[in-house]
Amino acid sequence: MSDSLPADESALIARVQAPAGEGRAILDAATREHIAHAPDQSVADLDDAIARAKAAQPGWDALGHERRSDLLLRAADAIDANAETLARLLSREQGKPLNGPNARFELGGCSAWLRAAATTPLEPQVVVDDGEAYAELHYRAIGVVGAIGPWNWPLMISIWQIGPALRMGNTVVVKPSEYTPLSVLALLAVMNEVLPADVLIGVSGGREVGARLASHPDIGKIMFTGSTATGRKIIESSAGNLARLTLELGGNDAGIVLPGADASAIAPDLFWGAFINTGQTCAALKRLYVHESVYEEVVAALAEVAERMPMGVGLSEENVLGPLQNPQQFDIVHRLVEDAKAHGGRIVTGGSPATELGELFYPVTLVADVADGMAVVDEEQFGPVLPIVKYSDVEEAIASANGLEVGLGASVWGDRDEARKVAARIQSGTVWINSHGGIDPRIPFGGVKGSGYGLEFGVEGLKAVAVPQVING
Ligand code: NDP
Repeated sequence: MSDSLPADESALIARVQAPAGEGRAILDAATREHIAHAPDQSVADLDDAIARAKAAQPGWDALGHERRSDLLLRAADAIDANAETLARLLSREQGKPLNGPNARFELGGCSAWLRAAATTPLEPQVVVDDGEAYAELHYRAIGVVGAIGPWNWPLMISIWQIGPALRMGNTVVVKPSEYTPLSVLALLAVMNEVLPADVLIGVSGGREVGARLASHPDIGKIMFTGSTATGRKIIESSAGNLARLTLELGGNDAGIVLPGADASAIAPDLFWGAFINTGQTCAALKRLYVHESVYEEVVAALAEVAERMPMGVGLSEENVLGPLQNPQQFDIVHRLVEDAKAHGGRIVTGGSPATELGELFYPVTLVADVADGMAVVDEEQFGPVLPIVKYSDVEEAIASANGLEVGLGASVWGDRDEARKVAARIQSGTVWINSHGGIDPRIPFGGVKGSGYGLEFGVEGLKAVAVPQVING
């Protein structure tokens, strides 16, 4: 660990890192400097954690909603009190800059979503009361919930999984991504300053730990965010324990710009819809379909926004774009751009690695004159690349938006009434009008088709981490 770190950051890392001589080295995504060794825990450690979480669950459930909410609000206060320290560690480990819609924004989201999970009302519902029959629908704790998270928004997504599950009286075992374990373990350490013992446990290990978590007989529910391929494996792993599943599996969100849209007015929101977290976002805009009447204006307006956005090391206050988080993701992005070039794509800006910034930096890359069927359009790039496809008939654009096996988000840009008509025909869990990717703890969020199933956030998100029980009579 570097001696030049602020004392609070060194102290937090010291609480979560592996014992000396053990663990896996975690590198700063931007500088590739060593941060610390993360614990490399085993399946036996996981089994022990699940046993402890199971033993703690009845006591946590017995506290009732009011007391649990109170403790979760105190955990949100603890996150706020440590937000800057956590944001710095997140910035180094994940790569995202402190500023822009990045690390500080993510920490703000953590406490906001935790507070929402703590305070959203969920009353029993009287489903029949007609003088002859009387029945109520209640939502009870499931037991122990497993949370398996990705590396792109590791803290906020962990909170989305943890907050509602704890609120409903479950205890939670968290398996962070191998790429970003330190910041997740640090978040849990901060929350555990106020939560009772063993209610929230992190186990940092490899894929075998994730697979065991999904198949463990004492796990009643898995909250998973990651790739579609891993989602399928989790379905298989949970065949034995019949764990309930919420699967958020990413996507390849389409945006459709209608004729008459004002290119310069929409360009900043289009840009951040696509490039939030340097494009490493499940519900980012990943392919843009623009009507031929406004195509060149939209391409030019986006390029103009892109050129104003500084990219670099996350801890430098001026940057709003960072590196790819890991070499595998860098290779995917690089391959897709090279393939687009080879198939006639026009590079408007970017187009080759930004090696002057560091090993994992790839510049914002706009690729025009591309078409469905090209890899850069059909595959999820999960990085700072946006293919822009020209269309002449909105029916074509709708068919393209629906043409892939994923359906997390989508957006339609232009006249609101026209856009809403188009939105109703798009196969995705959310369709935004004149924006893309904005989320709100009160509004349910989830995918369809290959993007998974189950809803997060709001009252639907609370129900998803509970078992329904009917009291009849
Ligand atoms: P994965 O789906 O492989 O990993 C997500 C999480 O699942 C990690 O914690 C991982 O652990 C864990 N995991 C891996 N294998 C298993 C298993 N068999 N059983 C249970 N858990 C398992 O995503 P990657 O990080 O490898 O990213 C691959 C692609 O997924 C990206 O290129 C991107 O397209 C997409 N993705 C989508 C995200 C989204 O927000 N929906 C987020 C991140 C990625 P471990 O780290 O130990 O492998």
